Amino acid sequence: MKGLDALDVAGQVVLLRADLNVPLDGTTITDDGRIRASLPTIKNLRERGARVLIVAHLGRPSGANYADRAAGGPSLAPVAARLGELLGTPVPLADDVAGESARAMAAALADGDVAMVENVRFEPAETSKDDAVRSELAARLAGLASAYVGDGFGALHRRHASVYDVPALLPHAAGELVTAEVSVLERLTRDPARPYVVVLGGSKPSDKLGVIRNLLAGADRILIGGGMSYTFLKAKGYEVGKSLLETDKIDEVTKVMAEAAERGVELVLPVDLVGAAEFAPDADHDVYPVTDFPADREGVDMGPATRELFAAKLADAATVFWNGPVGVFEFPAFSAGTRAVAEAIAALPGLTVVGGGDSAAAVRTLGVPESKFSHISTGGGASLEYLEGTMLPGLEALG
Ligand code: ADP
Ligand code: MG
Repeated sequence: MKGLDALDVAGQVVLLRADLNVPLDGTTITDDGRIRASLPTIKNLRERGARVLIVAHLGRPSGANYADRAAGGPSLAPVAARLGELLGTPVPLADDVAGESARAMAAALADGDVAMVENVRFEPAETSKDDAVRSELAARLAGLASAYVGDGFGALHRRHASVYDVPALLPHAAGELVTAEVSVLERLTRDPARPYVVVLGGSKPSDKLGVIRNLLAGADRILIGGGMSYTFLKAKGYEVGKSLLETDKIDEVTKVMAEAAERGVELVLPVDLVGAAEFAPDADHDVYPVTDFPADREGVDMGPATRELFAAKLADAATVFWNGPVGVFEFPAFSAGTRAVAEAIAALPGLTVVGGGDSAAAVRTLGVPESKFSHISTGGGASLEYLEGTMLPGLEALG
């Protein structure tokens, strides 16, 4: 994979595929982590005299055609405004993705300027499964520029036009974020220092069974918390009341637990849970041992005994990968488990990697200093697929 500095960019229009898919509350950005993570590459390109034209997606525009999607939004306008603030220079936004306005924008750029085109998912072709449909959009995007930089790590696992097809049409390189993310993931997969402890949470096992399977070959210990742990507990014969459950995954989870035992990988599950009367921030709640969870409650966090157990299982770790909050951390009353995990990992001197949009947001929301982790990945899906052993289409395209 060619790095940024190997690409000739001075005086050229460089199409930069970034991942600026930030969480929004209306038009307010609630966490600008992904915009900040994109700055090193943008600054590098500006300093070297490139004319930077950014292509990115935001949210999930819906509608059968371009007009419907553009009308429904979300527009990248708040992102362009925030990026302009962070760069200290205005970042104009084209009215379209790869049409007349984008072409005019590209033509007007001077060396060191930065501009953006609109939300690339306004173009239904961006995510099409049909190669020919994507190619037409890719050609229009490539026509805007004379070089391409792939820096949208969080989108690398998508076979999308702006991620997979455009780099084939232009001289290309990987941006600094992609290079940094991939080198950390390589360290996790190639001979990690031991013990290598993985913490997995989030809502559903179906999202993560693939990665668990693959990690059985590499990790020494896997701690499972959050919504996905209830299916594991159920598979072990415990009752979990009204907690999140994927009944159709119980067989697969049982197999994974047997495989872990065979391979000598320690699987650690919660021993107590916070059970709430309903899914609400102020719900009535109490702590229950997993052996005695009431039928009318739902699990929303791990209990104090599990916080201690997880901290003890992390204490000797030399390498840690954490993906997925271990409770509904968005509700402060149910954030203690996630906080305990974040603090236990933050205290470690070894290689500590946090992957996943919600996990990264949890670290920031709970106020655990980001600098205490070796690396906070901007892409949950992409890092999980990499750890699953899947070739990411966007990486393949960057060579
Ligand atoms: P990431 O984005 O870091 O990969 P996921 O998307 O897999 O993480 O999961 C994050 C979500 O999981 C959070 O919104 C959190 O509220 C939810 N979650 C964690 N534990 C529970 C639980 N016990 N019950 C319901 N939801 C949970
Ligand atoms: Mg998520």
